[in-house]
Order: sequence, then C-alpha cells, then structure tokens
Amino acid sequence: MTAGAPADGNGGDRTLTVQCQCGSVSFPTPAAAPVTTFFCHCTDCQRQSSSAFGTSAIFPAAGLFPLAPELAARMRVYHRPSQNGRTMDCYFCPNCGSRLMHRIFGADGTPRPSVAIKGGCIDGLDWGAVRMHIFTRSAVVKLPDDAEKYEALPPWMKMD
Ligand SMILES: [Zn+2]
Ligand SMILES: [Zn+2]
Repeated sequence: MTAGAPADGNGGDRTLTVQCQCGSVSFPTPAAAPVTTFFCHCTDCQRQSSSAFGTSAIFPAAGLFPLAPELAARMRVYHRPSQNGRTMDCYFCPNCGSRLMHRIFGADGTPRPSVAIKGGCIDGLDWGAVRMHIFTRSAVVKLPDDAEKYEALPPWMKMD
C-alpha cells in the first residue's frame, strides 16, 4: 500500500462503501479513491464528531449527485452557514445520527463539484494515506511530527 496512489490491486476502479452506524444508509463512493483526505481539528468538527477531530475524504460529486431518490429518502439534511457567505448541506442518518457527508454551496448557491465524505464511515479507506492536518491551532491531540500541518485552511483550500 503506497501512499498517494489508489491502494487497490484489483484494477483501481472499485468503489468503497459508505455506511452509517446502523446500516440504514449505505452507498458507494463516487470514485475508487478520494481526491484528497485530511484530518480537521476545527471546533466545528470537534462538536460534529463529538470527538477530538473530524476526517474528510474529498470525492468528485458527479456520480453521487444528484442523489438517487431512494438514497435521499434515507437521510436528513442539516443546513448550516459556512465561511464567506457559503452554506453547507450536511447529510446524516435520522435513525442512528451518523454524519455521512457534506456539500458546500457558494454564496450564489452554486454547489461545489466535490463532496466531503466522513472518513470513519468509509469501509476500506486507506488511513495510511491521510497525511494532512488542518486547523491545527485548535488541535487537542498531539500530531505526528512528519504530518503535513496547517494552522487553519491550507492556502489552496481558500475558495469562495
Ligand atoms: Zn444509521
Ligand atoms: Zn473542521
């Protein structure tokens, strides 16, 4: 398993399975491997996860959105404001409460072409490839010395 490449010896195009804690919500990832992954230590992620930090795996939204009606019917959406006038659609299982993913919309209402799926609900996620830590200024756990760290957002993530 080498970091950075889709760690998959079976052709590289198999998707992974996203599943909530109770199993009521289950769907394939839109691609075999995420575009990028990171641990987020912001206080929003701490509250959302009820834990020390969140893990996001960023996938292309195409192939998952628009959501299939039967999948959409199994989830609820929590809408919340984000930075710079943006909003987030946060999808969760109404039965067990697991947060599964979120999608960001620009101030003009245009959705991002990507979706952030919560790492802990992805079966077979390559955790060894998750090297980036963001919002380290509010981290409550010791971070690996060799990790890629950002006090807040990485410069390339600051988009509106
Ligand atoms: Zn559930
Ligand atoms: Zn966060």
